Amino acid sequence: MSKSKLEYIWLDGYKPTQSLRSKTKIESDFSGKLEDCSNWSFDGSSTEQALGGSSDCLLKPVYIIPDPLRKDAYLVMCEVLNADGTAHVSNGRATIEDDDNDFWFGFEQEYFLWDTETNKPLGFPANGYPAPQGPYYCSVGANNAFGRDIIEEHLDACLDAGLNVEGINAEVAAGQWEFQIFAKGAKEAGDQIWLGRYLLERIGEKYGVAINWHCKPLGELDWNGSGMHANFSNTALRTAGSKEVFDKVCESFRPVVKEHIEVYGADNHLRLTGKHETASIHDFSYGVSDRGASIRIPVLVPQKGWSGYLEDRRPNSAADPYKVAARIIKTVKSAL
Ligand code: ADP
Ligand code: MN
Ligand code: MN
Ligand code: MN
Ligand code: MN
Repeated sequence: MSKSKLEYIWLDGYKPTQSLRSKTKIESDFSGKLEDCSNWSFDGSSTEQALGGSSDCLLKPVYIIPDPLRKDAYLVMCEVLNADGTAHVSNGRATIEDDDNDFWFGFEQEYFLWDTETNKPLGFPANGYPAPQGPYYCSVGANNAFGRDIIEEHLDACLDAGLNVEGINAEVAAGQWEFQIFAKGAKEAGDQIWLGRYLLERIGEKYGVAINWHCKPLGELDWNGSGMHANFSNTALRTAGSKEVFDKVCESFRPVVKEHIEVYGADNHLRLTGKHETASIHDFSYGVSDRGASIRIPVLVPQKGWSGYLEDRRPNSAADPYKVAARIIKTVKSAL
């Protein structure tokens, strides 16, 4: 008999930012298939998802990948259900209306590697600051790139696990990095981002380095915040062949700024200031190649005769990709 370790992973009920939780289930002679993962339960009173009196919440496996960091192991992404089998209020994935996987998402996940002793990004001296922003973006060399061992190990782990990472880069602030994940289907894109985050947290543990997902961990100082740009398309956008379709979709975002910002991550007013390649949280704008706009139309779109995708630059690094995707789908569907 062979034994496998299945790490059941879910999102807790903390507000305004949900965190990853997980626990291990040992299975005998496990097939490796999602359909052979049984439902499980956990103590919701310890995760802000239930009261002590009736504390059980259910874990429904929805996505499985091999766990490259453990022997004979898998990572099992789960939705949280109430004891009666209905979706828990914290379950953003269940709100996604994209049953035919017509929506494709590419998320650009930015984050800081965080020194738990100095409580500053990697590369920051214990006292004071490193040289101002400028040399760090896409940098190489020990003066400017900090924590490469960690992010390389993370990239390999993601690829070994079968996550569709499309690239990584050092970001504008010291100790800040990015990975991009693309998937056809909003749910899978969200699953893969959460699993990518999970692997990064686990590798960080090994190095004693925390991952700071906050969108503006250095506050009002002159350092970039962290985003999670959401690149999206559906058949209509991919085959539009018309500027009018792009204008119509972009305009449909204007009256629902509040609804979008609500799910674009905590403290986004600190990040969306109009500086550091962002648009003000109070405005709505879009434009070709415009990195100071709320929504950027990539320059390839007009070049390809007005077909392709859009980039909503407002979601931040701590946002839930499920909720971001669900809201974008709702707005785009209202336009077309
Ligand atoms: P930048 O940093 O210039 O904004 P990146 O290369 O970091 O761009 O990210 C662009 C993202 O757009 C990639 O993750 C890619 O997967 C995604 N993308 C490309 N084409 C599409 C498409 N048709 N639909 C959705 N996302 C797309
Ligand atoms: Mn127990
Ligand atoms: Mn990018
Ligand atoms: Mn970036
Ligand atoms: Mn981008």
